[in-house]
Amino acid sequence: MDLYSPTVANLIEEFEKLPGIGPKTAQRLALFVLNLSLEEAKTLSDAIIKAKEKVKFCRICFNLTDEEVCDVCRSEKRDSSIICVVEEIKDLVALEKTREYQGVYHVLHGSISPIDGIGPEKLRVAELLERVKNGQVKEIILATNPNIEGEATAMYLSRLFKPLGLKVTRLASGLPAGGDLEYADEVTLTRALEGRREIF
Ligand SMILES: [Zn+2]
Repeated sequence: MDLYSPTVANLIEEFEKLPGIGPKTAQRLALFVLNLSLEEAKTLSDAIIKAKEKVKFCRICFNLTDEEVCDVCRSEKRDSSIICVVEEIKDLVALEKTREYQGVYHVLHGSISPIDGIGPEKLRVAELLERVKNGQVKEIILATNPNIEGEATAMYLSRLFKPLGLKVTRLASGLPAGGDLEYADEVTLTRALEGRREIF
């Protein structure tokens, strides 16, 4: 005898596909959903569908947005001559939380990882190059993570952008080595930004 009806088992399976969700948590989430009123369950599923339908990538920096261009790119208060390059949206969010950075961003959506077969052509590198060539960019801040892939990505990008005569900087050390930007506290991130050093 199966422990759960096919419909319940299917719901558990769907939750198990989510990142960081093991079988036990998936089971707990499924049972939680089954305890919701139909209206509450609809609110939840509508939020997922609405997000999928409405949210897209900013056509300039590849941040998430409900519009064509994100809030950061649209703001007149931001200095578009400085581009901070990050791996993921969550890194952009971590830097925005410091409220110190006044430039704009570029989200690569990953990092160079030869082992996983991820080269620069799978990231938003070509779009960044295009942006730099067409814009009035003075500085590129490489804010990739302080781990092997992040360093390799920073190295690749510095070799790509230095010859274009730009100032290319890297976040100061002090970030936990091997860790992710998103786990650094705001004070550490602010210091890393302020203490950024030019790559020669
Ligand atoms: Zn944007």
